[in-house]
Amino acid sequence: MAAFGTVFMPQMIQARFSDNAWSETSVVPSDKIELHPGAHVLHYSSTCFEGLKAFRHEDGSIYLFRMDANIARMKQSSALLSLPAFDDAMLKGMIIDIVRQFADETPLPPGSMYIRPTHIGTEAAIGKAAVPSLSSLLYVLLSPVGDYFAGGSTALRILLEENGMRCAPHMGMVKSGGNYASALAPISAAREKYQADQILFCPGGDVQETGAANFILIDGNEIITKALDSTFLHGVTRHSILTIAKDLGMTVTERNFTVDELLERSAKPGTEAALSGTAAVLTPVGTFIHNDKEYKVGNGEAGPTTMRLRQALNDIQWGKAADTHGWLTKV
Ligand code: PMP
Repeated sequence: MAAFGTVFMPQMIQARFSDNAWSETSVVPSDKIELHPGAHVLHYSSTCFEGLKAFRHEDGSIYLFRMDANIARMKQSSALLSLPAFDDAMLKGMIIDIVRQFADETPLPPGSMYIRPTHIGTEAAIGKAAVPSLSSLLYVLLSPVGDYFAGGSTALRILLEENGMRCAPHMGMVKSGGNYASALAPISAAREKYQADQILFCPGGDVQETGAANFILIDGNEIITKALDSTFLHGVTRHSILTIAKDLGMTVTERNFTVDELLERSAKPGTEAALSGTAAVLTPVGTFIHNDKEYKVGNGEAGPTTMRLRQALNDIQWGKAADTHGWLTKV
């Protein structure tokens, strides 16, 4: 199967903001956009995006998972980047229209249609280093996908990084391209030096998130994960997993915790750790690398609670369990 996110549906849907108004939406070829080389986004990173999925149920119908949460986060990202505001209804309509158009191309589980709304500042104005773009382009790309981590649910190797940060601490909750660019060099170095799959950023010892997923620790019946603040992305999957865990009678503790506590708890048999994200779903962590030493999490394999929570989430997404929280939207 092609690498995650490298295959696109041939058309996307777009709307342009200029002269203080949004255009009608239009469906256009997805392989190019017209952009002035002086466009605001190319110089000052006025860009944000989202990632959500549509799933095919057994009867062939297609459902979007938690679209409202992704739209809310995209509006927040746009606002924090001084990009033009848009209505929920507009983006909702765009997502439903384009997903419906390519409904037949939505893969069967465990695959899905990955949906990538993107919002960029398009004003040709290189003098606007400290001024928002007056025009923008909002578009929604589609990419049929399978598993994000090639090994599916093979336990990952994660480097604990206490010295670097993923991005500026007030921007972590914004899903913006610059945050990802700033984390590329350390993640590449961790791959090369330690064969790590990802970095878990823990500036000053504070356990935050990885480059593309949130982090949870499972100690017996308790899930521990960092409390929401501006330093990291407020994952929709994180919220979904915590909600499902509560439904299953687990204790959910959202609080800050340190690398020392993480390593101490991980050493106990039965402790599990996992990454949550739209692409990652819930992927087990088997090994931490810290100060050139390796530490197994529990027995180093995918843990039963991780796999149970992952299955419970998939069951809702795939229409095999009741959607008790109203997370699905029929397309
Ligand atoms: N953190 C980062 C940095 C991410 O890129 C993602 C993926 N969107 C997540 C966390 C998880 O967010 P979500 O569950 O909404 O996909």
